[in-house]
Order: sequence, then structure tokens, then C-alpha cells
Amino acid sequence: MDLGIAGKRAVVCAASKGLGRGCAMALAEAGVNLVINARGAEALEATAQAIRDAHGVEVTAVAGDITTEEGRAKVLEAAGEADILVNNAGGPPPGMWQDWGREDFIKALDANMLAPIAMIQALVPGMMDRGWGRVVNITSQSVKAPIPVLGLSNSARAGLTGFVAGTSRQVAGSGVSINNLLPGIHSTDRAISLDEGLSKQQGITPEEAKVQRCKTIPAGRYGTAEEFGATCAFLCSQHAGFIVGQNLLLDGGGVNSTL
Ligand code: NAP
Repeated sequence: MDLGIAGKRAVVCAASKGLGRGCAMALAEAGVNLVINARGAEALEATAQAIRDAHGVEVTAVAGDITTEEGRAKVLEAAGEADILVNNAGGPPPGMWQDWGREDFIKALDANMLAPIAMIQALVPGMMDRGWGRVVNITSQSVKAPIPVLGLSNSARAGLTGFVAGTSRQVAGSGVSINNLLPGIHSTDRAISLDEGLSKQQGITPEEAKVQRCKTIPAGRYGTAEEFGATCAFLCSQHAGFIVGQNLLLDGGGVNSTL
């Protein structure tokens, strides 16, 4: 299917690895020129080069922390008149509800709620002026079904989801679609670190932890960054203009619900 977005310009945050990288690669395959970001410059440049080599699009790599104003300013300077924004950042660490203090919450809110909101506020007005835009926020299945040890993530992502629910309906009339993609467990560094967390907690090996977590997924496996990226590219496509303010689960059936 032709996604109809060749030649457009996208900003993909937190994209040197994992799901962000998958989104950047899929957008590039659709002919979209990219600004990609992550904190570590080396892995970011390697990803930028891999994308250029695979798809021949323009890729600008901007190293910086997207959860800080300084990091965002650098990305926005490179972004110019972006048509597509993919919001992403690392997820908060696991822990126990009684241990988290104000600073832990502020850090999680900065990373997984306020940073994506700031990027939306910076880039969506231009998209509205030009009459076309797409925003995809990478959130988590924890928005639909809480993951108790990820209380910081549950809290911050619920806040972003609330903001998007209202805002997406305010901007849709100007041709801008904002939606959220909710990953279940995917094979990325994040999944490996959560496997390790479970293995320490239960005194089992990380491999046993992975087998245990796979059993919670009807599809019987972790998702891949490639299939996640392909879904993101579709939500950024010409065909997705009537999809507004939705929360799309990509979880192999892991969240057990009817709707
Ligand atoms: P990942 O494999 O660990 O990759 C994270 C990427 O984000 C890396 O490129 C990392 O590069 C970059 N990054 C992290 N913090 C950043 C920051 N502050 N500023 C800029 N770049 C940053 O993670 P992932 O699995 O793709 O997860 C992406 C998001 O989806 C996370 O929020 C995660 O919590 C959420 N999620 C993932 C899963 C899963 O199973 N994978 C499930 C549910 C939700 P640097 O470290 O160099 O900055």
C-alpha cells in the first residue's frame, strides 16, 4: 500500500533503538525525511546511517535528552516545518508504590507526559496552518491495564492520554490527527531490562522470566519493532486522517478486554 507520505518531514524522538527506531525505519521506507533523536550520539548516528543506507531518505540526527527543554530546543531547531511527530522517551523504572517520592513522579511526568505535550505544542500549530499533520505518541498497554510495578509509568501515561483525548478533537478540523500507540511487550532493550527485573525479583533466570512473560501473551511471543513501526507509519499515512484520538493496543492480545 502506498502510504502517500513520501517527501514529508518527520521528527521521531528517542529513536536510536527499539520502538522509536522501528517507527523511524518504517517512515523512511514510506519515503519520509527524518529528524531522529536520542541521548547517545554514537548509537543515534549508527541508526541514522542504517536508515539512509536502507531507504535513501534525508536523516538528521540530533543528540540530546528529549525530556529537557535544552534537548527539545535542539530537536525543534532541526525539525523546521515538520509534518509528522512521533513522541517517545525511555520508560520510568519499576518499583513499589510506597517508595516513590515527589522527584520520582516529576521525572516520570517530565519524560512521559510533559515532554510529548511540549513537542505537540511546538509542532502542531504549524501543521494546522499547513492543513495537514500526524502525531503518534508511544505510550503503553499500562494505560488500559495497569502494571503494578510500573506505577510511575501508569500515572504519567494516563496524564498524556487525557491531554490527547481532548486536544486531538480540537485540532482534527485542521487536518491534524493525534493518536496513541500502546505497546505491549516488545523485543527491545526495555523488555530485556524488565525480564531482568522479574528474574531478580523471583530468583529465576532472565530466560525463564521471558518464558513466563510470553505465557501472558495470547500470541505467545514478544512483538517486534518492525511490526510496531509499520503500524506507526500507517497512523502517519494519508489513509489515517479519520482516526482521531485513539489508543491502539499492540500487545498480541495481552490485555484481556472486550473493547
Ligand atoms: P529502548 O529499546 O530502551 O529504546 C529507548 C530509546 O529511547 C533509545 O533509542 C534511547 O536512546 C532513547 N531514549 C531514552 N530516553 C531518552 C531521552 N530522555 N531522550 C531522548 N532519547 C531517549 O525502549 P523501547 O522498548 O523502544 O521503549 C520505548 C517506549 O515504549 C518506552 O517509553 C517504554 O517504556 C515504552 N514501552 C515499551 C514496551 C516494550 O515492551 N518494549 C512496552 C510498553 C511500553 P538513549 O538511551 O541513547 O537516549
